[in-house]
Amino acid sequence: MQDSTHNPVKAQQPNAKSFPWHEKNWKYFTQARTSDHLPHALLLVGEEGIGKYFLAERMAKSLLCIQPVAFEACGNCQSCKTYESGANPDYTKIELAEDKQQISVDQIRKLSEFLTYSRSFNTHRVAIINPIERMNNNAANSLLKSLEEPANNSVIILVASHLGKILPTIKSRCQLISVASPTHNQALDWFKQNHAEVEQAELRLNIAAYKPLKALSITDEDITQRSNFLEDLSNIVNGNLSVVATAKKWEKINLELILNWQITWAQQLIKEAECGSSTSENNNNNETDRLNQIQHALFSQIKPDKHWQLYQQLIKQKQYIHTSVNTLMFIENMLLLWLEAGR
Ligand SMILES: [Zn+2]
Repeated sequence: MQDSTHNPVKAQQPNAKSFPWHEKNWKYFTQARTSDHLPHALLLVGEEGIGKYFLAERMAKSLLCIQPVAFEACGNCQSCKTYESGANPDYTKIELAEDKQQISVDQIRKLSEFLTYSRSFNTHRVAIINPIERMNNNAANSLLKSLEEPANNSVIILVASHLGKILPTIKSRCQLISVASPTHNQALDWFKQNHAEVEQAELRLNIAAYKPLKALSITDEDITQRSNFLEDLSNIVNGNLSVVATAKKWEKINLELILNWQITWAQQLIKEAECGSSTSENNNNNETDRLNQIQHALFSQIKPDKHWQLYQQLIKQKQYIHTSVNTLMFIENMLLLWLEAGR
């Protein structure tokens, strides 16, 4: 067994240009600039962990650079250098303050003030707000004013993971840019090119639902915990463990996390039934081999005509997760779905 006390992989600053799944968005951005039709506010929306913030930064740097090459920031000019040192006078970013759950109205007021200053040595003034759905109502209302009457040559880039949580009045004043998630192969290639040092890349990506930046924070402990839960599921289906005792054992775990694991397994179950087993080749890794064995044992016990039903029922559980559910009962219900699917 491998050491499970290993720390999470350090999220290094990825090279913004190396996210191939952003290319469509980047093309839109450069074309809008070529035709001089770049909107004053861009709203970047996409799933968590796919590098939206790096796309926002790539755009910001491009707008600020004094001598961009094919719209890409040069990295050498005064503007680029001050950006890298965090002191570019024409750039600001609004984020969640440490220990705060929301972006405050004061932060947005400072932003509005910033946008009215005259430019220093850049052609634009640029602000990034991330994540936009964490603004409180007062902050959102305050931002509306800046969006309605944009300052000359200013661009605000808003970043969000949940479009449904953004006020319609904000959405309607921004150009929406949907950022696609990578395909499994794109995510894996990105990992190999940028984080070749990371062990078990495919497994980490799988746990993180192929969101590469999320996968970087998966710890060895996370991997072991997930295998242990899968093993318990398998033992419930074959009758070696009771639902009640197992639910009690996992009572303290994050419900969304274990539900997402199960949804991924149900998806894999369906995929393997249709396309054959996709478990990765033996890569001489104990934990991966162990996981593959447990997964095979569980999958072989689930009745083929119940695959879809299981998947749909697990998806249905999502709606109860943020309500005041009884944790124990919630886990029991999920476990019973597997037991039922094995009958
Ligand atoms: Zn530059």
